[in-house]
Amino acid sequence: MTDPADDIAAHAGGFIHDVKNRLGTLSLNLQLLAEDFSDPQNPRERKALDRVNRLHGECQKLADLANAFLRFARAGVLRRTPTDLGAVVTRLIDFLTPTARAAGVELAWYADADLPTVDLDRDQFEQALLNLLLNAEQAMPDGGTLTLIGRADGDAVCLDVIDTGCGMDADVLADLFRPFHTTKKTGTGLGLPTARQVIVAHGGTLDVQSEPGRGTKFTIRLPARPGPRGQPSRPPEESPCS
Ligand code: ADP
Repeated sequence: MTDPADDIAAHAGGFIHDVKNRLGTLSLNLQLLAEDFSDPQNPRERKALDRVNRLHGECQKLADLANAFLRFARAGVLRRTPTDLGAVVTRLIDFLTPTARAAGVELAWYADADLPTVDLDRDQFEQALLNLLLNAEQAMPDGGTLTLIGRADGDAVCLDVIDTGCGMDADVLADLFRPFHTTKKTGTGLGLPTARQVIVAHGGTLDVQSEPGRGTKFTIRLPARPGPRGQPSRPPEESPCS
């Protein structure tokens, strides 16, 4: 018998694929249309080109939304392998460093020297963690510090994601994991619901503590894989974990 989650994901996949194909055709036609308005001296053509470019931008946003929805629909269907969580974190930190630096955000990573291995769907987990990291970065428009802490805790592995950003009040916190709830102009409101769904599907939890004006701490808790512990992904640093 097929898993209903697999079934929904397969249907969502086909549906979104269709939507994206049509958006692709629309985008291509808008690009071709833009070529018809190539006289920058002609105010009417300039205005028309402006409008076509804006429509093209809207197509791109719809494609992004379709992709976010697809990730949300597929979040329960995992392909897991034993994974070194430290390696996942360092890869994402390397990926984010250039934009974080430009935004005045300092990235810090501390980990227990012998973090246990976890069974992860690496692609989905990376995307979930990336959602948290991008949110944290966006919460610090004037710069700040984004700290990640990996620690063993009994038969679990915890990863704290701590920012010194704007924080959240009780109203935002109450709706935090509700799909499509966003306070951003161009947000999808699917980042956190997807992240939580992925983490829960791994048998884990995602908790949050936040204070307006001071910052936010998300804690991911995942079951550790029984057996030998993983290797530290960086030379052991002094760990601030208790
Ligand atoms: P989106 O980022 O598209 O808005 P999310 O589900 O990822 O969707 O986030 C929902 C809302 O939660 C955001 O719009 C923002 O208001 C709030 N939020 C999430 N992470 C943080 C954070 N680290 N600091 C402050 N607010 C946050």
